[in-house]
Parts: sequence; C-alpha cells; structure tokens
Amino acid sequence: MLVIYSLLLVSALAAIFILRKTDSSRLKAGLVYIHLILLFMPIALMSTNTACGLTCSSCHNNLPVLFMYSIPITAAAAAFFGFVGVPLFYTLSNRRIKTRWIKNFVRRYSASNIQLCLLNTAKPVAFSFKSLRSGIFLSVGMLEILTKDEIEAVLLHEISHIKRLSSVTKFSQKLLMFSPFYKFAGFNGSDKLEEEAADKFAISIQKTDKYLQSAKRKMDKFG
Ligand SMILES: [Zn+2]
Repeated sequence: MLVIYSLLLVSALAAIFILRKTDSSRLKAGLVYIHLILLFMPIALMSTNTACGLTCSSCHNNLPVLFMYSIPITAAAAAFFGFVGVPLFYTLSNRRIKTRWIKNFVRRYSASNIQLCLLNTAKPVAFSFKSLRSGIFLSVGMLEILTKDEIEAVLLHEISHIKRLSSVTKFSQKLLMFSPFYKFAGFNGSDKLEEEAADKFAISIQKTDKYLQSAKRKMDKFG
C-alpha cells in the first residue's frame, strides 16, 4: 500500500509540473482535477479498505477492487463540486434578469444559451460561470449606475470569459489551494491574461474602450 501511495503522490507532483508548463485553460483545469484526484486517492483507498475490513468483505486488502471503488468516488466528487454544485447553487439562489434588450444582446453575441441572473446587492458587481448551463450574474447596483453602452461592455467581457472557460480555470485554481503544492503550480499570471483577453473581446466588438473603461471606473468607485 505504501508503494501505491508514493506512486500516487509522485504522479500528483508530475501533474503540477506539467500544469506549470501549459498555457491552455482547458488543460490547466483538467490537470488540477487530476492532481487533486491523485492526491486524495490515498484517503479514498484507505477509508474504502477500512470499510471493507470492518464489514469483513472480500474487498479488504484487494487492490484492484479498492481502486475500482475509489477512482469513481473521488472523480465524481471533484467533478460534481466544480462543474455542477457551485454554479447550480448560484443560479438557483438568484432571480433571473428579465430586461429584454439585455437578453437579446447576450443571445446575439453568444452561441450558448446563457442564463442571466440578478444579484440582489447594491454593490456593483458582475461575474460569470461556465457550467452545464452557463450563467452571467449582474447586480442591481451595477445596473443602476451604468449606462446601456457600459452594461454592454461588461456583458461582452463576461461572454468572453464563458467562451474562454475562465471560470473553470479560476474555480480549479481555488480548488487547488487545498493542495499543499499550490504555490508550485505557477497560476499567478493566468488571472491577468484572462482579464486582458476578456477586455480585448469587448473592445473589438464595441470598436472603442471608452465604455469598458468608464464602467470599470464607476465599479471601482462604488464597489
Ligand atoms: Zn473578468
């Protein structure tokens, strides 16, 4: 068992090492899950083995069977919380945005069916999730202080995040903090790159950075 645990740990470290070298958001997110799965697999193995021992089942100390039980449990838990659980909690706990021009605008610039949610806070905030059904969240405070052009700039920025899978990278980055090897992953630069790419997309559609900049100034001032 000790050999297996060491092998899992070395593989987990290898995943972190590859993660450092990669630029793709998709691959990064995938590697974070692989890393965590490898890291927590020994725990799943040990607890499954204990359970098998306690119930006097034939799976006790039977490695192939133990793996068969542990892999899907660990993988399903990581995938569920990352892609379904957290986004679902947010979309279910907030009201939908019904404003027609906002709905039409998002539909025009995004192929996927994005859910628009209203955050009931006076603070001007906006964020997005990529999930089974992606969502953009805008706060009441933000809709109150921004002009139509500025709201469109923010929407384009968030649509770009969804297209680029930024939330998956960001979430897996948070998830990775549970790992003692977090600081080796070299994630620091990726946030800035994602923001720049999202800004670029908004500017390219609007043909000016005027609205994006004024939206940011207002959100900084009131946020
Ligand atoms: Zn952003």
